[in-house]
Amino acid sequence: MSERVFIGLGTNLGDRQENLARARELLSEKLSLTAVSRIYETEPWGYADQPKFLNQVIAGETELTPTRLLDFLKRIEKKMGREQTFRYGPRVIDLDILFYGDRVVKTKRLEIPHPRIAQRAFVLVPLAELAPGLVHPVTGKSVEEVKKNTDIQDVYDYKIN
Ligand code: ADP
Ligand code: MG
Repeated sequence: MSERVFIGLGTNLGDRQENLARARELLSEKLSLTAVSRIYETEPWGYADQPKFLNQVIAGETELTPTRLLDFLKRIEKKMGREQTFRYGPRVIDLDILFYGDRVVKTKRLEIPHPRIAQRAFVLVPLAELAPGLVHPVTGKSVEEVKKNTDIQDVYDYKIN
């Protein structure tokens, strides 16, 4: 049985647009992509003194379990040359599991839904584009509802070259 998952992509090093394209290509090896949001340029979060990010959200169907999906995302990050720096620091690619069906997971390595969705405009804006009515399995709030209560002024439409 396959589940619908939402993955958040972020990058602020090198050719950011190319990084997103490569990540989508690698993701599609185990995920059939059903929807892809526009690309947004956003101010860095958590640690301000670094280049701006490009962010995107994709939806897909996968047979992977949540843990296997996380392993798969970590492998892609490694393959694309992500180096460990510091929390919220610059990265070639960051892949986060936002939602996995309506599953709730809370282990040391993995939390689903992603715990910081509600604080992150760069996730809420592309997510609302794909699934405004998606309801958080714990809070019961829809993506659109949460977005309405979030300051999204630092999330810019990115013109694709
Ligand atoms: P962040 O995305 O918060 O900037 P990292 O990408 O370095 O930081 O992730 C740190 C750890 O967060 C990962 O190694 C992973 O084990 C854990 N993690 C917990 N929940 C999730 C999730 N939903 N999606 C991705 N990683 C997660
Ligand atoms: Mg991450």
